[in-house]
Amino acid sequence: MKQLWAPWRMSYLRGESHAPESGCIFCVGNSTEEDRSRGILRRGEHAFVIMNKYPYTNGHLMVTPYRHLSEIGDLTHEEGLEIHRLLVLCRKILGDHLSPQGFNIGMNLGEAAGAGIADHIHLHIVPRWCGDTNFMPVFNDIRIIPQHLEETYDQLLRAFSEIKF
Ligand SMILES: [Zn+2]
Repeated sequence: MKQLWAPWRMSYLRGESHAPESGCIFCVGNSTEEDRSRGILRRGEHAFVIMNKYPYTNGHLMVTPYRHLSEIGDLTHEEGLEIHRLLVLCRKILGDHLSPQGFNIGMNLGEAAGAGIADHIHLHIVPRWCGDTNFMPVFNDIRIIPQHLEETYDQLLRAFSEIKF
């Protein structure tokens, strides 16, 4: 297995650079020009799928609404429904293409709950493999990413483009 360090995650975890200076990473606007550099994999009408650039494991995706909001109760019915549909799509694609043995799916609401970007809610989909946590106590928040981010992006982008939503 090819292994690659993700040392950039360290500064992220220390809270130094979790959002670009220009603002919220989830406020992406309508232009698709920067979708690749942002890691956007699929745009829906109300929400979209974006790859986590500081992944917990390889293939760590997030689903988030276009609207900048922090309260889950403020989601419209349409937003909530599409977030759920995108979640199911992510789970299928990750299952088909990365063959994980399990998933963690959830939201961290508020900084106290571990939300890196608390102001714009997002749903994490983290594929898991048995033994993928073994390194964590040793390296203390630096995780080993077995596949380069861009390689994973290309692989998943192809998968998203081939599947009907
Ligand atoms: Zn935002």
